[in-house]
Amino acid sequence: MSKGASKSGQELEEVLDKLRRGEISLSRLESLLGSPNLAALARRRFLEEETGSMLSSIASTILDFEELVGRNIENPIGAVQIPIGVAGPLKVNGDYARGEFFVPLATTEGALVASVNRGVKAVTLSGGAKPKVIYDGMTRAPLVWTPSVDEAVRFSSWIKSRLDDLSRVVSQTTRHGRLREVQTFIVGNLVWVRLVYFTGDAMGMNMATIASDRICKYIEGAYEGDARCIALSGNVCTDKKPAIINRLLGRGKYVVAEATISRDIARSVLKANIEDIHYINTAKNLLGSAVSGSASFNAHYANIIAAIFLATGQDAAQVVESSMGFTWTELRGNSLYISVTLPSLEIGTVGGGTRLPTQREALKLLGVDGGGDPPGSNALKFAEIVASTVLAGELNLLAAIAAGHLARAHELLGRGGLKR
Ligand code: NAP
Repeated sequence: MSKGASKSGQELEEVLDKLRRGEISLSRLESLLGSPNLAALARRRFLEEETGSMLSSIASTILDFEELVGRNIENPIGAVQIPIGVAGPLKVNGDYARGEFFVPLATTEGALVASVNRGVKAVTLSGGAKPKVIYDGMTRAPLVWTPSVDEAVRFSSWIKSRLDDLSRVVSQTTRHGRLREVQTFIVGNLVWVRLVYFTGDAMGMNMATIASDRICKYIEGAYEGDARCIALSGNVCTDKKPAIINRLLGRGKYVVAEATISRDIARSVLKANIEDIHYINTAKNLLGSAVSGSASFNAHYANIIAAIFLATGQDAAQVVESSMGFTWTELRGNSLYISVTLPSLEIGTVGGGTRLPTQREALKLLGVDGGGDPPGSNALKFAEIVASTVLAGELNLLAAIAAGHLARAHELLGRGGLKR
């Protein structure tokens, strides 16, 4: 054993003794040991002793916490592993995504990858999915207090007239971020200032939050009336909550994907009639969602969104609003037209968890890792692929329900029923 190793071994034992005696907290280990990897080991050792549980699987990871502490995690002890399957090839005829793609899906739900994959086959044999991003803007909405509705209206007009000044403030905080729009909402004497940003290839929540903080400071210095930012996030943004405002105005990427599936392909690949698929969409996705009071009129966008988010290092909590949306079908002669609309798809190819090694490889598989040229184009390409995959997953589930195959697929693939 090297001298350095025995020194760190001795330090580790001393720190563990202090932890056992309750003299230090788990969050101080990085500063005491000077190494995030050693701190993770110390935490595991301590937790194993305290709880009697073995953490050897959690310990087994390629992650280097020297790279991640201070950016992606605090108090690390290891990592979880989620299997990744692949659906593809998926033909996409987008403005940015053109060609065939193999889509990584991280999930533990048996039958999910197979289900998406069958939809992918039907879409690809039908000539592919046509996606389109029709709006792109990440939002943060500080809440501003004023003493009266008169002052709220005055402030609202003032802030909307200051776009050039606000843009200058934003440009001091980011190279890629740009302020696009200022939307205001008044309730009583309070004003929500919903700031909309272009965030390049980043999902952009840190970028938008930092820029909005500077805008709040600017308001307090420059506005001559009586207005105070009382919350940097006033929930009209809306982040990590399902919200009609995102569904109507968009947040992140507002993206549509469509395809036309012939009667023959529906029969041969999906084992269903196009009339039955159309009827199930109307009765289940539209009427059923209306009856239940759902904010989201689809069968299972969250399944595909969550699996892609986990595989590619997106913020998993944003599955909430990213999986809101509408599935629409029309019978057109001997074909079924189907579209999915995702108004609030919050994704990035740089920043956050996209820099982790397995997540970055998954983005590479799609040809969208890192910053695009021009900036923003990788995130747009990624949004088109995600929406096209959601389309395939939605088509397949509607077909499986129409044909009465849903439970059988889960019995076979979700409960080990498939004999090898
Ligand atoms: P970030 O990793 O905080 O920032 C992205 C970074 O990438 C910026 O430094 C940006 O530089 C740089 N960059 C390099 N090339 C770029 C390109 N082509 N396009 C855009 N940026 C480029 O990521 P973020 O997307 O702003 O924030 C995501 C993180 O926020 C996630 O970890 C998420 O979990 C977390 N989050 C935060 C909040 C919050 O309230 N703060 C809420 C939800 C989620 P420039 O800025 O100089 O351009």
